[in-house]
Amino acid sequence: MLRVVDSSFIKSCTKPDHYPTNPYVDIAFAGKSNVGKSSMVNTLVKRKLLAKKSNTPGKTKLINYFQIAFKKDELDDRLYLNFVDLPGYGFAKVGKAEKQSWRRMIEEYFKERTQLRAVFLLVDIRHKADPKDKLMIEMLESMNIPYCLVATKSDKIAKNKIQKTLKELKAQLNSTTDQLFSFSSLNKTGITPIFNWIEERVF
Ligand code: GDP
Repeated sequence: MLRVVDSSFIKSCTKPDHYPTNPYVDIAFAGKSNVGKSSMVNTLVKRKLLAKKSNTPGKTKLINYFQIAFKKDELDDRLYLNFVDLPGYGFAKVGKAEKQSWRRMIEEYFKERTQLRAVFLLVDIRHKADPKDKLMIEMLESMNIPYCLVATKSDKIAKNKIQKTLKELKAQLNSTTDQLFSFSSLNKTGITPIFNWIEERVF
């Protein structure tokens, strides 16, 4: 089992020549604003304020990099990776130009970042499939980027409905991934499957 032993903010970037030069793999987090992305990153690393919560609309959109150090029981050395908080999308008030710059930034990141191992795409478990999430999935699938679908705020629905809702969301979103997760930052549930996935696929 992986344990996070350290986490720190590295930098914010907008374009490839700003990306960190460390040799570690990237795991990126994407989703609409307010989906619970900062909360999930903070919950995974057990820090309340590592990723800032609720970026306000209209603020410059940035790709935020965090370096995470893990320990595995049977290993002495630490293992490292980058958590990448991609700018949230879907603010109603955002203008066309900003939407385009957001899309360019994300597309460029997906295209240029050879260390990118996977994207966790977050969707609110209570919401019907959103066209913006569908677009995101189309982008990921057309670029052959491995991704997992994570339904956030799973504390908001009955436990016995979570799996069914996840499958419905996947179908509504026209997603072909078989990597489905649920997560609650409030109840701190869903952490172990995410770390198991990272352990299996990355380390
Ligand atoms: P972000 O904009 O995607 O980074 O979203 P935040 O992490 O800032 O969360 C947006 C709002 O959703 C905040 O009011 C959080 O308190 C709330 N939230 C985040 N995660 C959860 C969760 O697991 N359960 C519940 N009930 N609320 C959550």
